[in-house]
Amino acid sequence: WNYHVTHFVTSAPDVRHLPDDTGAEVAFAGRSNAGKSSALNALTQQKSLARTSKTPGRTQLINLFQVADGIRLVDLPGYGYAEVPEEVKRKWQKSLGEYLEVRQALKGLVVLMDIRHPMKELDQQMVTWAIASEIPVLVLLTKADKLASGARKKQLAMVREASLAFMGNVQVELFSSLKKMGIDKLSHKLDEWFTE
Ligand code: GDP
Repeated sequence: WNYHVTHFVTSAPDVRHLPDDTGAEVAFAGRSNAGKSSALNALTQQKSLARTSKTPGRTQLINLFQVADGIRLVDLPGYGYAEVPEEVKRKWQKSLGEYLEVRQALKGLVVLMDIRHPMKELDQQMVTWAIASEIPVLVLLTKADKLASGARKKQLAMVREASLAFMGNVQVELFSSLKKMGIDKLSHKLDEWFTE
C-alpha cells in the first residue's frame, strides 16, 4: 500500500463511537511522548498528519486515517500520563481492552516504546491484551537515535528476549523518525497485515 496518500477521516471520543467495524485497520498505541505521532508522520511522509494533544488529563480522541478504501490506521490516545486521575485511567484501559477484544477489523497492533524505557506496565498490558485476542503485535523501539549503536543493539536484544514471555506473535524492531530508521520494517508489516 502507498502510505503517503493517507488522510485524516474522523475522530472518535471512544471506541464505542468508531465507524463501522468493516474493512481492515491497524492500531497504533503507546505511552504519551513515545513518538507515536512522529512515527505516523514519518510513515506517511506528512509533516502534521498526526498531531499531539499535549494537555494531560484532557479527553484524548481516537484519530482515524484512511490509506485506501476500507484500509485504516487508528491512532489510539497516548497512555501513562501521571497527572491523569485514576478513574480516567481505568476508563481508558477498559475501553482499549474492549477495542482489542471485539474489533473485527483490527488486523494488528503497533506499540511504540521509547527505546530508553520500554515495556512499562501499560505497554505490557497492551501487548498482553492483543495476544489474548490473537492480534499480532509490532513493537517499535522509538528514538533509537538517542542511543549509540552498541547500546541500541543490546536494548533490542533485551526487549526481544522479554517479548518471548508473551508467547504470541510479537515482533520487535528499532525505529527512529528522526533518522528514518525502521520505516520500511513498519510499512512491510502493515502490508502483511492488510493483505491477510
Ligand atoms: P507522541 O506523544 O507519542 O505522539 O510523541 P511525539 O511524536 O509527539 O514525540 C514526542 C517527543 O519525542 C517530541 O519532542 C519529538 O520531537 C521526540 N521524538 C519523536 N520521535 C523521535 C525520534 O525518532 N528521535 C528523537 N531524537 N526524538 C524524537
